[in-house]
Amino acid sequence: MTTPQDIIRRDVLAMTSYPVPDATGYIKLDAMENPFSLPPVLAAHLGEHLAGVALNRYPAPRPEALIEKIKRVMGVPAGCDVLLGNGSDEIISMVSVACAKPGAKVLAPMPGFVMYQMSAKLANLEFIGVPLNPDFTLDTEAMLAAIAEHEPAVIYLAYPNNPTGTLYDDADMERIIAAANKSLVVIDEAYQPFAQQSWLPRADAFDNVVVMRTVSKLGLAGIRLGYLVGKPAWLTEFDKVRPPYNTNVLTQAAADFLLDHVDVLDAQAEQLREERTKLAKAVAQLPGAEVFPSAGNFLLVRVPDASVMFETLLAARVLIKNVSKMHPLLVNCVRLTVGSPEENAQLIAGLKLVLH
Ligand SMILES: *Cc1c(COP(=O)(O)O)cnc(C)c1O
Repeated sequence: MTTPQDIIRRDVLAMTSYPVPDATGYIKLDAMENPFSLPPVLAAHLGEHLAGVALNRYPAPRPEALIEKIKRVMGVPAGCDVLLGNGSDEIISMVSVACAKPGAKVLAPMPGFVMYQMSAKLANLEFIGVPLNPDFTLDTEAMLAAIAEHEPAVIYLAYPNNPTGTLYDDADMERIIAAANKSLVVIDEAYQPFAQQSWLPRADAFDNVVVMRTVSKLGLAGIRLGYLVGKPAWLTEFDKVRPPYNTNVLTQAAADFLLDHVDVLDAQAEQLREERTKLAKAVAQLPGAEVFPSAGNFLLVRVPDASVMFETLLAARVLIKNVSKMHPLLVNCVRLTVGSPEENAQLIAGLKLVLH
């Protein structure tokens, strides 16, 4: 009798599924979600809009009107096209699959976003992690040396980085892009609403750069929509490995509607940036806490004991992310998503149970 152990790849058998804890009854500050909902009137209009969607039809594979709206609202340069993904996670996967020639490598600074490594592994690409400096800035010399040594097919630069929140220095980024003349550089701007700095306006200025965005951190994590901006020569190739109906009709319709009201989401992001400043200040005042500068909607904080902090907050019904085991540079670090003012007050109260 056949068993999964006979059939499934050995590396897959050895894996565990991506862990998502059940957050029912908790204040959820572990996944960089926007804590605010849509204003009720807008939500009602959205409901009416979605009620008109033809659920019996397959989605448009390349919804031109939506793509044009993204280009206009987000300021995509004229020489660039847009490819949609079921979240940017799927775009990372498409890039991996399309670039997975035998022996091809993927390179990214570490600690970084786990999906770069995960997706490379699933596509049988070798992953090269280059440690950041201890202050989480880019170790540019190490990056340049690794690029020369490995000639990676793909280099990921998260701008700003997760889980550190670091907005890499533009001159360092430029040196890496210039050195990567045998690579594609994917600049991941998942946190652009909180960074307010972007490479998107320059996406057509380089032949080896594409810029990846998502609406997830802007407040629409549930609809799963990411997009890749780049020269058509690149996007045409990635489009070939895109599952034909990867973004569904409800996602497309919701995005189309909400992009007309993006000012609402932008205002929420602005409020979260203010909350980030307040939270960083409050946490920095707690004895034993070291707060790293963040351009995202989260803070990386080093505490005396990350496990104790995580467990204490869990008991206080606040869910955060203990990232201390992710990488040696993250020893005793936790990542705190910036929430609503009420949530942040509860978070600070929880932190004070340990740090006083
Ligand atoms: C959250 C996150 C993403 C994933 O976004 P989705 O569009 O929700 O898949 C991509 N990159 C980074 C760095 C992130 O933190």
